[in-house]
Amino acid sequence: MQDKMQKIISLCKRRGFVFVSSEIYGGFSAIYDLGPLGVELANNIKRVWWKSMVQEREDIVGLDSCIFMHPKTWEASGHVTGFSDPLAECKECHTRLRADHLLEEVGIRADEKMSEEEIAEIFKKNKEKIKCPNCQEKGNFTDVKKFNLLVKSNLGNFTDDWQKEPSYLRGETCQGIYLNFKNVLSSSRMKIPFGVAQIGKAFRNEITARQFIFRTREFEQMEMQYFCSPQEEMQEYEKLRKFRWQWYIDLGITQENLKWHQHENLVFYAKEAYDIEYNFPFGFSEIEGIHARGDYDLTQHSKFSKQDLSYVDHRTNEIYIPHIIEASSGVGRIMLAFLCDAYSEEGDRIVLKLKPALASYKVAVFPLLANKPELVAKAREVFEMLKTDFTCAWDDRGNIGKRYYSQDEIGTPFCITVDFQTLQDQTVTIRDRDTTQQERIKISELKSILEKK
Ligand SMILES: [Zn+2]
Repeated sequence: MQDKMQKIISLCKRRGFVFVSSEIYGGFSAIYDLGPLGVELANNIKRVWWKSMVQEREDIVGLDSCIFMHPKTWEASGHVTGFSDPLAECKECHTRLRADHLLEEVGIRADEKMSEEEIAEIFKKNKEKIKCPNCQEKGNFTDVKKFNLLVKSNLGNFTDDWQKEPSYLRGETCQGIYLNFKNVLSSSRMKIPFGVAQIGKAFRNEITARQFIFRTREFEQMEMQYFCSPQEEMQEYEKLRKFRWQWYIDLGITQENLKWHQHENLVFYAKEAYDIEYNFPFGFSEIEGIHARGDYDLTQHSKFSKQDLSYVDHRTNEIYIPHIIEASSGVGRIMLAFLCDAYSEEGDRIVLKLKPALASYKVAVFPLLANKPELVAKAREVFEMLKTDFTCAWDDRGNIGKRYYSQDEIGTPFCITVDFQTLQDQTVTIRDRDTTQQERIKISELKSILEKK
């Protein structure tokens, strides 16, 4: 199965989905860039998410808050004191490692949601079994300590000891939504229950990076926070869970590759928490968290900002701090899940069976022969006609079979070939990626047929 992961990583690099950041300088750990095809795929994922979460929902509006927020935000949220991973250092080579990951390597499940003290205790007991992945020294580790994941900066601080009062790159996008709760209320017609959705970058100083774009230090989140009354929280929560599960199914993810994971160790304020997990080549792992958070977030920000964030419910005249349910996911993780799910090999043919809505290119246009000017000119004409409505690829290299293979590998659902018959009767062949069947259709009908598909 790890073999499949290697194949996907190599495909991503070879075809320009994902590049290691700063590669000419030897790379920069746990940071990745999106290549020409990756940015198209990521944009498509974000577009379909936004469409289903904002455009098609009268009860949800969008927001784009900044990466930087008042540092108090992160005190109120608990990130300054509580947002940490268990860190152990190899005494031999001084590599810093995540204690829970080291435990996993020797078959001891240390849940990410366990308390740090629990993990520290388990680590101490099992230290002798654990090998340093860097220098192979066995059992020679420091005790586990907390390592805070917030990324600090000197933005807005012009002193030399800015570390004492740093500003932070946001560790999650949802805090910007909480801070704008009152602004959205007073500037729009939204009434509870309603949601605010946002897509944006977040940063976490992950101790160890693993599994390609699954866990990165800079990443993009898609989050929706839904404000509701205490009474309707759990009912809305169940609706949101169903809604988000169906999103993946509608986009073609194999149902057997998805499962729910219920959190056993809930944070004290949470009512309920489930993750949607995808069956990656390295095992089932979280791609989205759907959590019922109670009134914790707005209560905290009320306290720290001394602003009243309570709400008068027009339906009951009740006054309360709104409860929040959230759906939180990462673009990189979802992209990796779609790539893994779509990846298939048929003989020597590699096919990415992405839904057309997600595919980087919707259609590719070829002249049958690159050395026949009349074919090239006609194919250019077709390409120019389609490119305003569809992301189109052009290819006139090598033979037609190779071009098909090349498009299959990046998931282009349709290939159009201009041949000698085109010059006679204004028809082209259109080839379907999944069936490899070809049909002959009129150029004048191309657009409407492609739209339908
Ligand atoms: Zn070591």
